[in-house]
Amino acid sequence: MIWANAVSLVNARVAAGDGIAESIRFSSRVLSIGERPKHGDTVLDLDGGFVVPGLVNAHDHLELNHYGRIKGRDRYDNASGWIADMAPRLSADPVLRNGRAHPLIERVFIGALKNLLSGVTTVAHHNPFYPELRRTMPIRVVRRYGWAHSFLLETQPAGARGEPGGDVAVRWRATPSDAPFVVHLAEGIDENARAELPRLEALGCLKSNTVLVHGVAIDEDGWRRVARAGAGLVWCPASNAFLFGRTAAVCGLVGGDAACRVTVALGTDSRVTGSLDLLDELRAARDAAGFPPETLMRMVTTDAATLLRQPRAGRLCVGAPADLVVLPRLADQPAAALLDARRRDVRLVVVEGRPLAGDPDCAPIFQARKVSPRPLRVDGARKIADSGLVRRIAGSPIAEPGVSAA
Ligand SMILES: [Zn+2]
Repeated sequence: MIWANAVSLVNARVAAGDGIAESIRFSSRVLSIGERPKHGDTVLDLDGGFVVPGLVNAHDHLELNHYGRIKGRDRYDNASGWIADMAPRLSADPVLRNGRAHPLIERVFIGALKNLLSGVTTVAHHNPFYPELRRTMPIRVVRRYGWAHSFLLETQPAGARGEPGGDVAVRWRATPSDAPFVVHLAEGIDENARAELPRLEALGCLKSNTVLVHGVAIDEDGWRRVARAGAGLVWCPASNAFLFGRTAAVCGLVGGDAACRVTVALGTDSRVTGSLDLLDELRAARDAAGFPPETLMRMVTTDAATLLRQPRAGRLCVGAPADLVVLPRLADQPAAALLDARRRDVRLVVVEGRPLAGDPDCAPIFQARKVSPRPLRVDGARKIADSGLVRRIAGSPIAEPGVSAA
């Protein structure tokens, strides 16, 4: 049997807890932070590069990332208008028809690849947990969750195989109180969107495990009630701007008045309305609300993990799975570097100690972890990636723009 070696990343700036450490050792788990390499470790000098926790994307629809952005008019008042515009196009528009004809396993792979290349190691998928998500997903997909699509699609198809969006109250009751219950809510700016939070409350479904996605129409008084319930928000500013020209009133929720404080995580939504990936979404969030980089970084690490009840995700600590991302020194602080990074800049993505994609100079890490790399191109940059992953990319009937087996 050939054992994989431990890896020590040295001369690094490791974002661990509130501080910065100079090194991190890992095998499948984080072995130590800030300690010297041990005999037998494979040691890589990062030349001041940052190590941050694997990112957590709190909202995506993994099967919907290969179409690009679609809408039928410039602005909507409610997601219902967009849904109504899309319905006839699903069969009439050749791009949508062909996109839907691909096997679901290929569609969700593109969703996973989108996330992986941007440094996401844990993603929350919104829709049924398809059997296709059990097999060969390169990153973690949150498995323990309750969901309903929205009040808009309770009895109408929402999933890839026409699964209904689900009765919100029934689904909420079926969700254990220690699992997140995720639902699109108040996705719009009109009276109907404003009525959804009171409706959720009247059903008794606004509780501490409730995770609202969008919340664009919720007003200050509504946010106070959300805060009082201990519920959270997944904020998708790029998608909101695309559909409605505005987003949720998040500024009051983070850091300000305690009575309004709500845990906010960032989500990309799918590319049908959302951003290219979570790195892009971070910049959309900064532009929409002006939060400092540290606040935004929490929304894709610790705060996202809190909302999704994933206590081992979103942080680097000894004993936790080695899910991490290496970034070049694009700025002085890790959060600022994250805000500057595009996916071609990401130096390495590691899931449970397994390097999946990175720069060619990370080859010794692949070797140490017994992962055989193959060349890959990402937006013109030369990369290497797990050969199994590159084979899947090369064999995929769906092309991911900018990505090819080199
Ligand atoms: Zn969504």
